[in-house]
Amino acid sequence: MHSYDIIVIGGGGTGLMAAYAAASEGSSVLVLEKGPALGGTTAMSVGTVAASNTELQRQAGIVGDTPDAHFEDMGLFNKTLANRDNLALRRILVDHAPETIEILTRLGVVFMGPLPEPPHRVPRLHAILPHSRGFIVHLSKACADLGVVMQTRATVTALIQSGERVTGVEVAVEDGPTQQLTARKGVIIASGDFSAAPLEYKRHHMSGPLLDIGGINALSTGDGQAMGEAIGSKVVNGDLAWGPEIRFLAPPNPSIISKLPTWPGLAKLMVWAMKVVPAVLMRPFLLGFVTTFLAPSHNLFHKGAILINQQGERFCDELDRPQDHIGRQSPASGWIVFGHEVARQFDQWPNFISTAPGVGYAYLPDYENSRRDVVKKADTLAELAQTIGVPLPALEASLQDHNDTLVRNPALSPIHQGPFYALGPAISWIVFSEGGLSIDTEFRVLDAQDQPIPGLFAAGSSGQGGIILNGHGHHLGWAFTSGRLAGKRTAQEEIAVA
Ligand SMILES: Cc1cc2nc3c(=O)[nH]c(=O)nc-3n(C[C@H](O)[C@H](O)[C@H](O)COP(=O)(O)OP(=O)(O)OC[C@H]3O[C@@H](n4cnc5c(N)ncnc54)[C@H](O)[C@@H]3O)c2cc1C
Repeated sequence: MHSYDIIVIGGGGTGLMAAYAAASEGSSVLVLEKGPALGGTTAMSVGTVAASNTELQRQAGIVGDTPDAHFEDMGLFNKTLANRDNLALRRILVDHAPETIEILTRLGVVFMGPLPEPPHRVPRLHAILPHSRGFIVHLSKACADLGVVMQTRATVTALIQSGERVTGVEVAVEDGPTQQLTARKGVIIASGDFSAAPLEYKRHHMSGPLLDIGGINALSTGDGQAMGEAIGSKVVNGDLAWGPEIRFLAPPNPSIISKLPTWPGLAKLMVWAMKVVPAVLMRPFLLGFVTTFLAPSHNLFHKGAILINQQGERFCDELDRPQDHIGRQSPASGWIVFGHEVARQFDQWPNFISTAPGVGYAYLPDYENSRRDVVKKADTLAELAQTIGVPLPALEASLQDHNDTLVRNPALSPIHQGPFYALGPAISWIVFSEGGLSIDTEFRVLDAQDQPIPGLFAAGSSGQGGIILNGHGHHLGWAFTSGRLAGKRTAQEEIAVA
C-alpha cells in the first residue's frame, strides 16, 4: 500500500495551499483531485481576496489598516447571521490573511487593487490578474517544486480508520478499482462545498428554493462533508449558501487572450497598462480575460426589464426574488428582456449590467462588444423571439402584460421601442454552499462531542467550521489561509502510522 505523510483530498485553492505549506515543512504530500484538472471552484472564481495591512494597500497610500479593524468590519457584513458566526475562526482568518497575500505574491500571483467594498472602512480587496486560474498555476508549480505528488481523476470515496484514528483514504483513479492509501501524519479534507450534491444529501441541510437549483461547480458534491459525517463529525451552517443567485454562464469559448499563460510578466504589464492606457481602450482587453460566471444586476428589473422562460412567459414578480423561481421552469433558465427604453440607461454608472473583474462594472456596450454569447439583440420582436427560440405570441403577451401594469409602478420603463434585447440564458445557481465540517482552531475535525478525530483535518469550504464569510474576498481568503495553516499544522503531527 502506498503511503505519504499527508494526503490532501481536493486540488483546489485550499488543497494546493495546504500541500505547499505541508511540503515546505518537509512532509511528503499527495494531493488527490477527482476532476480532470486541478482548480476546483477556485479556478472558476472572480479572484478577489480580502486582507489588511498589505504592501498593495501601502502602495495605494492606505497605512495603518490592521487585522483588528478587518475583524470588526467583517462583523458588519453579517446582519442577521451574527449569532451563528465562529469568531475564533474569523480571528484566525484576519490575522493570517496578510501573510497569505505575501506568500501568493511571492509564488508569482499578481494582484491589482485594493478595491473598496463598504462596510470595509478601507479598500481591502486584492484582485488577481489576469484571472483566477493564476492561483492554480502558481500554487501547483510551487507544489511540484517541493515534490508534492498531484494526481487528477482520483476520487476519494472513503476515509480509512484504525480505531478512532484516520489513517488513510480509499481512492478510485480513472474509474479503476478502489485502492487504499496510508497517511502517516494525517488526511486533510479540502474538497470544496456541496452546492452540486445529490438532492438526498442537500435535503439533510437545506430547504426551499435552494433545493430546486444546482451548483456552479458540478464537482462540488460535498464528498468531504459526507465522509466526515460518516465517521461522526457534523456540518455547521449547512442551511446557508450564496444563492439562489442569477448568473450568466461563463464564456463558452474563452478569448485567445484569456488563454494566454498566466505569467507574472503579463499580469504586471496589465497593471502598468491600466495606469497609463486610456480606460476606453483597456476595457475590451480586460473583459477578454473574463472566465467566470457574471451576475446580472437586479437593477435591470427595477428599470423595467422583464424575466421570461423558454415558453416566452413571465413567471414571477421580477422585483421580488426572481432568483427563487427560475429553478422551477423547464428548462431551468430565463431571459432578461428589455427594449431601447431600458437599454439606453445601461451605458454608464450607476446602471451597470454586472460587476466584472478588471473593470469593476460592465455596461451594456461592454457586453455587446465582449459577451456576444450573452446578448441577443434584434430590431423587431419577431426576430428576437426567433433568435432565443421562444414563441412570438407568448413573448408579445408578456410585454403587453408588463406595459399594461406600468401605471402601478411608473419607475419602470415600458418595452415598446427596438432594438430589443434578451440577456441570457439567466440561470439561478447556488454559487457555493457555506456548510463545512466542524473544526477547532487547529483545523482538527471535531466529532459530535466536539472532540478532535485523530488524524483528520479540514479547511476551505469543506472545513468552513461555521465561520461566516460574507462580503467579497473572504471565501478565497479562507481557502488559502485555512489551507495553509491546516497544512502547516498537519505537518507537525507525529508519524502515527507505520
Ligand atoms: C463564480 C464564482 C466566483 C467566485 N468569486 C470569488 C471571489 O472573487 N472571491 C472569493 O473570496 N470567493 C469567490 N468565490 C468562492 C470561492 O471560489 C470558493 O469559496 C473557494 O474557491 C473554495 O475553495 P476550496 O479549495 O475550498 O474548494 P475548490 O476550489 O472547489 O476545491 C475543491 C476540490 O476538491 C475536489 N474534490 C471534491 N471531492 C473530491 C473527492 N471525493 N476526491 C478528490 N477530489 C475531490 C474538487 O473537484 C475541487 O477541485 C467564487 C465562487 C464562484 C462559483
